[in-house]
Parts: sequence; C-alpha cells; structure tokens
Amino acid sequence: MNSALDRLPEVLLMGPGPSCVPESVYAALSRPTIGHLDPRFIALMEEIKDRLREVMATKNPLTLPVSGTGSAGMETCFVNLIEPGDPVLILVNGVFGQRMTDLAQRLRADVDTLEFPWGTPILAEDVRRRLSERHYKLVAVVHAETSTGVCNPVAEIGKAVQDTEALYLVDTVTSLGGMPVTMDQWSADALYSGTQKCLSCPPGLAPVSFSERAVSRLQARKVKVPNWYLDLTMIIKYWEGASRVYHHTAPINMLYGLHAALGCILEEGLTGVFRRHLDAHHQLVRGLADMGVTMLVPEHCRLPMLNAVNIPHGVDEAAVRRQLLDNFNIEIGAGLGPLAGKIWRIGLMGHTARPQNVDRLLSALRSLLNRN
Ligand SMILES: *Cc1c(COP(=O)(O)O)cnc(C)c1O
Repeated sequence: MNSALDRLPEVLLMGPGPSCVPESVYAALSRPTIGHLDPRFIALMEEIKDRLREVMATKNPLTLPVSGTGSAGMETCFVNLIEPGDPVLILVNGVFGQRMTDLAQRLRADVDTLEFPWGTPILAEDVRRRLSERHYKLVAVVHAETSTGVCNPVAEIGKAVQDTEALYLVDTVTSLGGMPVTMDQWSADALYSGTQKCLSCPPGLAPVSFSERAVSRLQARKVKVPNWYLDLTMIIKYWEGASRVYHHTAPINMLYGLHAALGCILEEGLTGVFRRHLDAHHQLVRGLADMGVTMLVPEHCRLPMLNAVNIPHGVDEAAVRRQLLDNFNIEIGAGLGPLAGKIWRIGLMGHTARPQNVDRLLSALRSLLNRN
C-alpha cells in the first residue's frame, strides 16, 4: 500500500504553526489509549493542570486544556464570559484581534474596537484613555500577534484594565512556551493558548485559565453559556473534584502528547527555553541582514518566535516558498490581509527554535535568492 499517508515527508516547520514535534511527544501520542474516566487517566489530567499553571505562571484552580485548536480556546473565553449587550473592548492590530471582534459580535456583545496599524504595537496610553471614556465588562488583546510578528505590551495594558471593573482577556496562542507569559502578574482574568505553536505538540488542544474574578462572572451569568461543547460550568465537572462526570470524551492521546510537551519545556526550564528562542531569533535576523533582507517590525516590539520579513524587491515570494518546500522540505508562511505579498512569516517556535534549523533555512534562502 502506498497511500498519501505513507508518502508524507518530514518537513522542517518554520511557518506560523504547526511547529516541529519532539520525539518524546510522538512517543507519548502512541501510548495505549485508556478510558477517559480511568483513575490513571484522571491522575494524568491533574498533572497536566499543574504543568499548565507552571508554564502560565498562575495559581488559578480553573486551568485546563479545552478540546479543539487555539480558536476553540478563544471561543471558550468569549462564550463563557460575555452575555448579550455587554460592552466589550477589543484591541486590534492584526488577524487575531479581528477574529476576536467577529466572535464577540456573533455573541451580540456591544463591541468597540481600538485599532492600530498592522506591524505596530497597541499603545497602552490609548487604551487607558478609552477606558476613562467608557465602562467595559471585558477588554481583550492578543499578546503575540502571529499575523504581523508584533508583541503587544500586555503587562502595561493589564495595569490600565486593573483600575476598571472589566475582565482582562489575553490571547497567548503564539507566546506561551516561547517567551514569558505571567498571567497573575499581568492581572489577566482569562487566558488561552494552543498546542501547535511554542508548546510543540500537534494541533488539537487549547489550554485555558480563568481567574477567581472570571469564575465569579461565569457563575453570576443571567443566561446559559450559548455553546454546549465549550460550557465551562459543565466541563469543570469532568476536570475537577473527587468524582468526575462525563461531558464529552476527552481526546485521550492528544492529552498524553500535551503532558509530554509540557514536560519537555519544564525539564529544559522556562528561562532556558526563552533564551533558546531569543538566540535563534537573533541568529535569523543577523543572517537575513547579511543577505540584505530586512524585518517588518521595529526591534523593540519584535516577537522572537514569529519573524515578519520584508520580501526583497523583485522576488516572487510564492515561488520561493514553493521551492523551499519542494526542494528543501522547509515550510515558511505567507503574509495575511494587508501584508499578503509583502512579508514572509518565519516561525521559530518551540522545538523548531534551534541553531541548526536557522542555518538550514538561511542557506536554502541564500541559494534561492542568489545571495551566495
Ligand atoms: C494560531 C493562532 C490562533 C488560532 O489558533 P488555531 O489553532 O489556528 O485555531 C489564535 N490566536 C493567535 C495569536 C494565533 O497565533
């Protein structure tokens, strides 16, 4: 049998996710499937929650992986925390801020946006001014905007939100496991992520954490959570307590994978992991500069794990990406929205962020761009 599955090559994943998966995570994924109410599985769930709290730097009891990709994490936060008519402020400087806006509008929240040019960060001062003009029930922002490579000042924004009654919601899909994410220090009330970026696990789970304030808001809802599958008031009865109640069948083997992926990160140590991402980023930026290739985002707000690279003049950007994949088995990402055709997005996420991988990409790019 020679099926499409048999023909899959190993690709060096240097796009905006998924990232390369370590052998120990593949090994964990192939462990025997057991029952989702087996006490041994419940012990593993407890360890996953502890590991997530450590990586997110939070003490929140309500910390668990939602079944689904990062967008399911986003949806979980919004459907559980918003009720129709709630005034909500979304800070937007890329695709994922736009996605949050779409989601909040579908839930019939009263949505305001504060928008900033793509490739530039959110300005905390502007947020503070807006918060003094109107009362909001929730303020949402993306930490690492994967569509542009910009890092938003989530700690500073958190200080502004803290002085109001609004809950503070932060997207850490791309940042978690690649740079410091300190949920409690940021005064964040809700945070979500995904497995296939810096956690270096295949896509399929969305770690989520809620503060005590967020849990109180959830418990005080006037109307039921409008999404059955993502209703945390029911999901916690499976993830917490002495006796566990079936809600939906947990994706057992994916959870093995997440357990192992978090184990890899904690074993290396968060400081070491963040340093490795920064080193790979600097190596890439230097190598590109040597070829005369520049970065979109100003240095002070660049993400280490997502590098938005200006396409050199006269280069067919799609052809380069295709040749990288066909001839070198390296995947990089294209620009989105207003940045389509203007940038490449080079991911240095999780297990991918290593010197030999950066070297392999730089040498392939040098030959494709004739910069030898
Ligand atoms: C990838 C990403 C998402 C969506 O995650 P999916 O796993 O694709 O559903 C949300 N926010 C940010 C910042 C992302 O990078």
